[in-house]
Amino acid sequence: ISMLDETLLFKWMTEFDHQIQTDKAYLSGLDAEIGDGDHGDNMARGMSAVMHTFKTPNQSVAEQLKAIAFALISKVGGAAGPLYGSAFLRMSKAAVDTQQLDQLIQIGADAIADRGGANFGDKTMLDVWAYVPAMLEHHTLSSAGLAQLAAHTKPMQAKKGRASYLGERSVGHLDPGAVSSQELFQALLKAQS
Ligand code: ADP
Ligand code: MG
Ligand code: MG
Repeated sequence: ISMLDETLLFKWMTEFDHQIQTDKAYLSGLDAEIGDGDHGDNMARGMSAVMHTFKTPNQSVAEQLKAIAFALISKVGGAAGPLYGSAFLRMSKAAVDTQQLDQLIQIGADAIADRGGANFGDKTMLDVWAYVPAMLEHHTLSSAGLAQLAAHTKPMQAKKGRASYLGERSVGHLDPGAVSSQELFQALLKAQS
């Protein structure tokens, strides 16, 4: 079972920041189809702030996760900021007792569900987050698996967030938050390799 230490956390966030900056226009384009077209810009702004938090030296994993959470909450904005933020905030509290990655991600997924009130299949980032902990636990997390989780949001009708205002017209489009979450865990895979 993999553990989240300071080195892995830095590599993970570095990879994620890189991916988000690269795909900024793509993610905002996805959001333009069923939302307000800002998801990539929101995440790119937030991840720049996240990378800035690593300039404070000698932080424990718990302290670093907390700084990441505050950067996400204050800089991403929209719906995604508080949701990603509460995931990392609750992970930071749990990291005092455990560094086990699958447990931490499960705690993050639970925080997103509590905060946003979404269920599985509501076409949100939860449709990726919810399935990653078991994949980590069973060593089956893969790029292909992550891509499939995000792709599964395409035929779903959005029940939460801005896209839900479209009703049936939200069907047939990828959920932008599910795709950025796919990239988050893709970055984790890269950081671990
Ligand atoms: P906004 O919709 O405020 O512009 P973003 O575009 O940054 O915010 O983020 C949109 C993403 O947030 C969606 O694609 C979806 O994955 C996620 N989201 C929105 N509402 C919820 C919710 N209640 N629970 C989980 N995820 C949600
Ligand atoms: Mg948006
Ligand atoms: Mg917005």
